[in-house]
Amino acid sequence: MKAIIIGSGLGGLLSAAKLSQSGYEVDVFERLPIVGGRFTNIPYKGFQLSTGALHMLPHGPTGPLAQLLEEIGVNVEIVRRKPNVVIRIPRKRGDTDYKYGHKDILFEDFRTQFSLLNRIKLIYYIVSTRKNPPTGQSFEQWCRKHLDQDWTYRLSDAFFGWALSLKAADVPVEEGFAIIENLYHYGGPGVPMGGCKGITNALVNVIRSNGGIIHTSSEVSSLITEDGKVTGVIAEGKEYNTDIVLSDIGHPATSKMIGEETGILGMDKYAHNAAELKPSAGIKICLSSDKTLIGHGGVLLTPYAKRVNGINEVTNVDPSLAPEGKHLTMAHQCVHWNDMDNLEKEIQLGLEDLMDIFAGKEYEVLLIQSYSNDWPVNRSPSGADLKNKTPIPNLYVVGDGAKGKGGIEVEGIALGVKNSMQDLLIK
Ligand SMILES: Cc1cc2nc3c(=O)[nH]c(=O)nc-3n(C[C@H](O)[C@H](O)[C@H](O)COP(=O)(O)OP(=O)(O)OC[C@H]3O[C@@H](n4cnc5c(N)ncnc54)[C@H](O)[C@@H]3O)c2cc1C
Repeated sequence: MKAIIIGSGLGGLLSAAKLSQSGYEVDVFERLPIVGGRFTNIPYKGFQLSTGALHMLPHGPTGPLAQLLEEIGVNVEIVRRKPNVVIRIPRKRGDTDYKYGHKDILFEDFRTQFSLLNRIKLIYYIVSTRKNPPTGQSFEQWCRKHLDQDWTYRLSDAFFGWALSLKAADVPVEEGFAIIENLYHYGGPGVPMGGCKGITNALVNVIRSNGGIIHTSSEVSSLITEDGKVTGVIAEGKEYNTDIVLSDIGHPATSKMIGEETGILGMDKYAHNAAELKPSAGIKICLSSDKTLIGHGGVLLTPYAKRVNGINEVTNVDPSLAPEGKHLTMAHQCVHWNDMDNLEKEIQLGLEDLMDIFAGKEYEVLLIQSYSNDWPVNRSPSGADLKNKTPIPNLYVVGDGAKGKGGIEVEGIALGVKNSMQDLLIK
């Protein structure tokens, strides 16, 4: 059996590795000269920056991605360091007046910051929502109803801004709670040694060792369909036949490749639903410093900043991601769809946040990267993902345009790939 994979992002490489391991003849087509999509490294001034991700797996060595990698035979060390999460709050709790300064508190100690009544309330909501998950509203609406305090909006915006590049008002409450459940189940983040490329390179090795071929600088321009099935693709003007196609470029771009005049049942609805998806956007600011800026290998959530949602310093886990004696720190901020035309202003606000957060510390801004449209943070905002199947039975979509439920970023990609494989490899 032959499989064609469109796109060599993490979703495409995971699928290609799994299929090649299961005996498929695999061809991966990648339009760029490099593989890995938004999950590989960019060497820059001796630092290992990245094309997208912040070199972090949301559930570290025990999450869905780590499990899938192990299943495929990819041996990459993923390190989870304590503290997982630290939260930066004003010294005088609830006070947004910065003259009091800030303090960093461990997530595990966060409960102790609340009154006894609020702690009891929180435990009640954690238990009751696990039994009867809320539905039909945004996470923020749920907070307003049940935990109506400034810090709850700030913290949920910081968390979802960091994890999904969305505001809590744009996260369906079902997805929010599925994510919390997964955090509880799989645990907190970890850093793959070697960064994103440590993983994508290892996947490339698996694909090649199983006889798979990766064609770089090869853009797929269209799909060939016959009797309601995909029979091949056109890449760089050449036709390639196949039994199945997995597309790692999201539902909107995939549906456009099929064309309109197919007469395939459900195609119009599929194309319409795909066109409705709004990719999530964000800004990443990469910093270099001689001394550590945040001092740990977890995430620093910044709910009281103007724009920055969170910061990590991966060199506290893998020093090889920076030149000797240097640290690499990355700040992420969500860009709301309404602010897409003001990127310069959003960047400025992010830089001001960093000056405040790291006041008195020395650092250099290495690179500022913005992500939207065709190179977004997420092709499909979490909670709105269409499933992996399409109206064409042998055409699947993988990657962050078709994540599994409650799966943050690459964990959602792994869940989506697992769902597709269950379907394909059992048939
Ligand atoms: C700033 C930022 C920070 C992030 N941080 C994290 C993080 O810390 N942890 C985490 O888990 N996730 C993070 N993410 C998300 C994560 O990087 C992405 O979800 C993931 O890399 C997407 O992989 P993918 O396979 O879906 O798609 P992509 O990586 O986009 O791969 C798709 C590939 O298809 C190629 N392609 C497109 N069209 C064609 C065509 N017609 N023919 C051939 N090839 C084509 C593209 O060139 C690309 O290489 C972050 C993303 C961003 C932008």
